[in-house]
Amino acid sequence: MSIPKKIEQLKKELGQCKLVAVSKTYPVEKILEAYHIGQRLFGENRVQELCEKQPRLPADVEWHQIGSLQTNKVKHIAPFVSLIHSVESLKLLVEINRQAERNNRTINCLLQMHIAVEETKHGLDKRELEELLNSTEYSGMKNIQICGLMGMATNTDNQEQVRKEFSGLCQLFNELEGSHFANQPRFTELSMGMSSDYKIAIEEGSTMVRIGSAVFAD
Ligand SMILES: *Cc1c(COP(=O)(O)O)cnc(C)c1O
Repeated sequence: MSIPKKIEQLKKELGQCKLVAVSKTYPVEKILEAYHIGQRLFGENRVQELCEKQPRLPADVEWHQIGSLQTNKVKHIAPFVSLIHSVESLKLLVEINRQAERNNRTINCLLQMHIAVEETKHGLDKRELEELLNSTEYSGMKNIQICGLMGMATNTDNQEQVRKEFSGLCQLFNELEGSHFANQPRFTELSMGMSSDYKIAIEEGSTMVRIGSAVFAD
C-alpha cells in the first residue's frame, strides 16, 4: 500500500487522536508523500537527522522530538521544534527553558514516564515526577509549557500487559489534570502508542500516537 493510502486508513482508526508520523531513517521524499496529503506532524528521534531534514521540508511542518534528548543538543532544535515528547529530567527541562528563552519562544513539552518493565526504556518514575513538579526551578520557568505525558509500553506480545501500562499512564494523566495542572488548560496530550500497539493505546485514552513503520515501511 502507498504512504497516502496507509495514512488514510490510519486516520479512520484514529478518530480524534492525532497522528505523529515518525519519519526517522526515512528519506525526505517519503516525508513529502505524506505532507502532500495533508500530514503535518512528523517525529524524529535523532537531533542531527532532524536538523538535516527540517530545512528541506516546508515551513509549516510541525517537528516533534520523540526520542531521548541530550542536554547539549537542545540548542540545535530550540529555534523550531514544536513539541518535545521525551523530557525525563529536571536538568533537561532547565536547558530547554534556557534555549527557548534565547530564541524568544515557548517550547511545548511532554514529560516522559517510565511505564515499561524493561529497565532500558527511558522516563521518570512517579517520585521523580513529583520532585520535578514541586521544584523551585520548575515553578520559575517561563519559556516551557508542559502539554501532557508520554510513555512507551513494554515490547511484548502480552496485550494485557501493554493495556495495563497504558491505562496506568492515562490514570496518572487524569490525576495530574486535577492536581498540579488544574489551572493549565494546555495540559491535554497523552502521547502513547506506536505501530505495534496503537490500537490498545487509543482504547486507553491516547490523544497522540507516534507511528513510523506502519506508515513508511515498504
Ligand atoms: C521509532 C519510535 C516510534 C515509532 O516506532 P514504529 O514501531 O516504527 O511505529 C515511536 N516512538 C518512539 C519514541 C520511537 O523512537
